[in-house]
Amino acid sequence: MNEDDLTFDRQHIWHPYTSMSNPLPCYPVVSAREVMLQLADGRQLIDGMASWWAAIHGYNHPRLNQAISTQMTQMSHVMFGGITHPSAVALCRQLVAITPDALQCVFLADSGSVAIEVAMKMALQFWQARGEQRQRFLTLKRGYHGDTFSAMSVCDPQNAMHSLWKGYLPQHFFAPAPQCRFDAPWQQDDVTPFARLLAQHQQEIAAVILEPIVQGAGGMRFYNPEYLRQVKAACDRDGVLLIADEIATGFGRTGKLFACQHAKITPDILCLGKALTGGTMTLSATITTRQVAETISNGAAGCFMHGPTFMANPLACAVACESLALLQENRWPAQVAAIEQQLRAALMPLRAEALVADVRVLGAIGVVETHCPVDMAAIQRFFVARGVWIRPFGKLIYLMPPYIISPDALSRLTQAVALAVKDATLFLTAE
Ligand SMILES: *Cc1c(COP(=O)(O)O)cnc(C)c1O
Repeated sequence: MNEDDLTFDRQHIWHPYTSMSNPLPCYPVVSAREVMLQLADGRQLIDGMASWWAAIHGYNHPRLNQAISTQMTQMSHVMFGGITHPSAVALCRQLVAITPDALQCVFLADSGSVAIEVAMKMALQFWQARGEQRQRFLTLKRGYHGDTFSAMSVCDPQNAMHSLWKGYLPQHFFAPAPQCRFDAPWQQDDVTPFARLLAQHQQEIAAVILEPIVQGAGGMRFYNPEYLRQVKAACDRDGVLLIADEIATGFGRTGKLFACQHAKITPDILCLGKALTGGTMTLSATITTRQVAETISNGAAGCFMHGPTFMANPLACAVACESLALLQENRWPAQVAAIEQQLRAALMPLRAEALVADVRVLGAIGVVETHCPVDMAAIQRFFVARGVWIRPFGKLIYLMPPYIISPDALSRLTQAVALAVKDATLFLTAE
């Protein structure tokens, strides 16, 4: 890639959440291996982001590559309407086996946001089939569920700029974000506003939708498992479905295979994505109970009304299968535990820094929250100059590296963060 390519990129290509008229600089990556990203100019960066929760086994994994090439020689794609194929069956067998017993019926779609659309549609069709008018959802402030419209409608209203879509976006119910931290003593009043909202509007609410334990893109917050337990109990009591969005937390990131396990609960609908294919291809799964699936299927439509063109894409299914096989070799619990321990030791002392508001660590996720938002271009340059790829947002500098990262490489990441939070020039002073 040369200067010309970068100019073309700047002038013609949208990147996530960027301006087309005044884009932030982009770094050209030409290849990646294990935990290293290779820049076009030859520099190598240690990846602290796992490409947004996804690349849990690192990049260019020989077994994941092999799974894709083997499938490719059979077929890269075939329609899923009226056709099935071995990779889809093998993947769904594994998904049914590793998720809680009650979750039996799998819908494969293209991305996390679509998995959320599918889950919300399932809840709506479920109540329609039961002859009840329930078309609203209850969720938590500071949540994030994706960028399509239904997903956006249950994202934090401020973060997702609901004001932009006023009059267009459906109106749902928002409980305050949980305050009681993951490892703090449980405070019963934390869940009271949620329980009150649910009781008040129970007849209108199709489902509660939330991210279990870790609120990701909405603030990187870790809440108390007892909160989730009580949400589940309240949903059962009031006869409302529970949708767990484990698109970010699934596949070991929080120290459990699924974050719901911290609270020992089973949702009615579970959404998976991101790390499902080990970060190689886009794929998501929405998994529900036999009861939800049958109720929908016995309703007026006689079917579930969704069917994407690239549903159960064979390449994506094959590589997801292999990623799950790697997880099943069970190296991840020790890897994630070691990352957690090292993140704690290296990041917790940063609480003493004047620029730092909070530090929190859970599983292979380390978060340093600062008082002021980062100067994105400046801090990105700072990190790249130190050989690491860390992409903060707002007041959050966070690490969620591939599970295979070595202690040395992880030290390089935490040292870069420690240096950054001593340098006031990397932060904006305005809120
Ligand atoms: C990333 C994410 C999504 C959306 O997934 P996409 O694949 O980006 O559409 C939904 N929910 C959570 C919790 C996520 O982290």
